[in-house]
Amino acid sequence: MPGAALVRRGEPYRLNRRDRNAVGMLISCKDASRLISQMQDGELSFRQRLAVRLHLMFCDACRRFVRQLRFLRTAMRRYTA
Ligand SMILES: [Zn+2]
Repeated sequence: MPGAALVRRGEPYRLNRRDRNAVGMLISCKDASRLISQMQDGELSFRQRLAVRLHLMFCDACRRFVRQLRFLRTAMRRYTA
């Protein structure tokens, strides 16, 4: 199938290793999950947060990751407080 190799499952936009690519704001799941972890600690710039939001719009896997992370953080806080 032509073009099928371009979209590998789980990593739809793996164009480079930086936070942004030539298109502008599209990031890989690897970058997204790293930024999402940092975002929980409030360490992201406006541009990085925007990139994450954009990624979450089309990536179901990372949306699940955000939910799991939030759940874990809440659970952790409950046990360490
Ligand atoms: Zn993703």
